[in-house]
Amino acid sequence: DFLGKDYRSSYGLPVINVPGCSPVGDNFTETIACTLLFLQGHGPLPEFDELGRPQWLFNETVHQHCVRAGYYEEGTFAERYGQKECLVEIGCWGPVVQCNITSRGAINHMGGCMNTGGICIGCTMPGFPDRFSPFYKKPPGANISSAGSKVLGTFMRPLRRISQAYLNKETRWVREGHVPSGWGHVEKPGPILKLIHKMYVKYQFLGSRKTWKEE
Ligand code: SF4
Ligand code: SF4
Repeated sequence: DFLGKDYRSSYGLPVINVPGCSPVGDNFTETIACTLLFLQGHGPLPEFDELGRPQWLFNETVHQHCVRAGYYEEGTFAERYGQKECLVEIGCWGPVVQCNITSRGAINHMGGCMNTGGICIGCTMPGFPDRFSPFYKKPPGANISSAGSKVLGTFMRPLRRISQAYLNKETRWVREGHVPSGWGHVEKPGPILKLIHKMYVKYQFLGSRKTWKEE
């Protein structure tokens, strides 16, 4: 804004925005490297988005690569800092913020906001900080999306636990009712679980040329 829209550097370049507070160092050096390679004729023209940000670095959201996204999907949310679940209910704006810190890390591919327990306050976005205030308050849109995840998660979590228990067993263990070597205490599944597993396998092999049947 301060340099104006007609600004060009001595190399004829417009302003390139590598946002963040502070920007991730690797994003900064990578952008410079790509631009210099292009100027020297050794690399393709780097792509930038409509805000002049390196497109390949800022085209996805924090949420899409977040280590806590699985908790969001299953509808389990942290109530206070220090908990391992998704942080949206205590103020994370990650689902709508374009930033790659969750995949790239802060320094040397380590750290980064959610990886170290912090919420996203949108520091790569032009609306920061005003449009993300007050910090540490649940974003309004999260009322709908997290409620949806909670409802879905109520069904999904128990179903996944059933599949997990099934997949954590060798067929031989179930057949013989015990683990012949090493760790493990395996109970034979009851009739309801057996039926669920049977339907699961039937559906798993639906449309396949061969099927598999547990003894
Ligand atoms: S902590 Fe934030 S970015 Fe991570 S899953 Fe939750 S809402 Fe998404
Ligand atoms: S606050 Fe959000 S936008 Fe800023 S570095 Fe952390 S995750 Fe990225």
